[in-house]
Amino acid sequence: GPVMPQDQMRTATHCPYCALQCGMHVVDGRAGGGGIGVEPREDIPANAGSLCQKGWTAAGLLDSPERLTSPRLHGRPVGWDEALDFVAGRIRAVQERYGPDAVAVFGGGGLTNEKAYLLGKFARVVLRTSQIDYNGRFCMSAAAAAANRAFGMDRGLPFPITDIGRAGAVLLAGVNVAETMPPFVRHLTRMREGGGRLVVIDPRATRTAKLADLHLRPAPGTDLALALGLLHVAIADGHADLDYLAGRTTGFEPVRTSVAGWWPERAERVTGVPVAAMREAVRILGEAERAMILTGRGAEQHAKGTDTVTSFVNLALVLGLPGREGSGYGCVTGQGNGQGGREHGQKADQLPGYRKIDDPAARAHVASVWGIDPGDLPGPGRSAFEMLDALGTPGGPRALLVFGSNPAVSAPDAARVARGLGALDLLVVSDIVTSETAAMADVILPTTQWAEESGTVTNLEGRVLLRRRAADPPHGVRSDLSILSGLAERLAHREGFPADPGTVFGELRRASQGGIADYSGVTYERIAAETGVFWPCPAEGPGEAAHPGTPRPFLERFATPDGLARLVPVDHRPPAEDVDADFPIYLTTGRVLAHYQSGAQTRRIPELNQASPEVFVELHPDLAERLGVEPGGRVRVRSRRGAVEAVAKVSPVVLPDTVFMPFHWEGVNRLTNAALDPVSRMPEFKVCAVAVERVA
Ligand code: SF4
Repeated sequence: GPVMPQDQMRTATHCPYCALQCGMHVVDGRAGGGGIGVEPREDIPANAGSLCQKGWTAAGLLDSPERLTSPRLHGRPVGWDEALDFVAGRIRAVQERYGPDAVAVFGGGGLTNEKAYLLGKFARVVLRTSQIDYNGRFCMSAAAAAANRAFGMDRGLPFPITDIGRAGAVLLAGVNVAETMPPFVRHLTRMREGGGRLVVIDPRATRTAKLADLHLRPAPGTDLALALGLLHVAIADGHADLDYLAGRTTGFEPVRTSVAGWWPERAERVTGVPVAAMREAVRILGEAERAMILTGRGAEQHAKGTDTVTSFVNLALVLGLPGREGSGYGCVTGQGNGQGGREHGQKADQLPGYRKIDDPAARAHVASVWGIDPGDLPGPGRSAFEMLDALGTPGGPRALLVFGSNPAVSAPDAARVARGLGALDLLVVSDIVTSETAAMADVILPTTQWAEESGTVTNLEGRVLLRRRAADPPHGVRSDLSILSGLAERLAHREGFPADPGTVFGELRRASQGGIADYSGVTYERIAAETGVFWPCPAEGPGEAAHPGTPRPFLERFATPDGLARLVPVDHRPPAEDVDADFPIYLTTGRVLAHYQSGAQTRRIPELNQASPEVFVELHPDLAERLGVEPGGRVRVRSRRGAVEAVAKVSPVVLPDTVFMPFHWEGVNRLTNAALDPVSRMPEFKVCAVAVERVA
């Protein structure tokens, strides 16, 4: 018979995937014999009624036949007590023999704020290890470092996303939203309908670049040189906002001097972008009444990623954009909780509230919330790749706990990382399915996922949102919070590790109080009533005492001690690995619409798998002809670190000297270069040297 509304459970929540965190309803009709699906919400401004293909099919994850429903110990299904007893026993044995830092923790930018917080506390308080970092290091760390350096605060977009629709010009540097988060495009469309112009910087003619009024195509690894050329032109052509620079910034003079030699002709020689296009881009930005410069992974995932973003921030500051309503600089964060995931202390150098772990006042505050002596708080540990690279080496971690990440696929130089994972005394992975990393684990702990548990996430605008439990989890799985609680109890911490998300959030609010990312005024009730609350929000109320949240934190002053933004001189340098006779072609990596990150989730959704079934290598027709490669033929791509085979996709989207591969499949990151940015420790995912050959 017909499915009646009373047979349906309809719950407002958010998408499990990217940082746009589109609002959706989960409609669960299973109790009445129907299915489970999703519908977009109209009330969340980021998506306002639309979803991408990944979002539309997200319910498929809940019923996936590949869900794990009991813990596995060396491949054997076991009960929870046996699994957790084993893990706790091995942690104790490893630490007794090698010390606290012999146990490491690897988190994820998809974990809710509550999980990220409790994971950081678990590492520092229960394990007393300094060795905790997470996959966000591979995602947004360069932009975060640059924003902290310039503004004293890293909040992805420091303005509501709807401001984009009112801008007169937007520059996207290495951002491909039409592919990665299509509902974002509506804001660009609105901007253009209002007469605004879109400029895109990308070596590839991406779907987003095809929407642009002007597309600049720098050679891979030269975005920084391009930004320096744009900056030179902005100053030379009279677009510098000198009143703004004098009143709201410091450091203009050294930056002016440092770009004096970056004549546009020189920038053209390095980047391949014509001088006229640079001048046109600057004119579009400089003449607009309101303008924005946004960076994404394309500009950020380099061994000079922080300096590259700094150079785009310098450009925004010279044009007088940040801290003016409707204008600014922002980073388009990638992972689902990419913003919140970097605020609550799962980062090696950080404590909750986006505090620095080596700041004595921060240590004292967090230690008091945790009920420990500040002297017992470990100091900063290794960054993500450095930690993975040290696994199993003398002095490196002997045990690793992984939550919400799949580093065997997503880490750079992945074969080297896999050797480290294989050398461990203990690998524990908490996941919903047997990811490639879980397949290597001694113990797999099956967890609940997005719609089966409650918690908060913070989207790319810094808006704290509530994910509500919308469906019952399968029998036999536990939440990550419950797993941490169970392990803490077995490691002599009966108190302080509650499994209830609301209780954890209450403590997170206190721990964040007075920090940069201050959540102390945010409650689940307020989020629900106000469609999200922008941090910082330092007071709950009651009534008039409630802080309204901060949609645009820089209008009056920046978050630096003197309230002024900082311009920092930086210079271009070539990629860590350049092309040569043996490896004559650039490889750049990125995403496709149907898949998300390591693909552990989306490769298990039939519709998405059908849309994008396998890894491919995109080559320019000229290169394909030179190599004798036919469209659809097999190709082997080799770097100094590894090799992978893929199907050839022949397309002028990519430059003739470059191939592109999506990184959602195992093997692609065997090719990539783990050269790290000295400031943020971001690896150079976006450019390395490869050889390409036809497979006979
Ligand atoms: Fe929205 Fe991103 Fe989910 Fe797509 S994947 S529906 S863009 S949150």
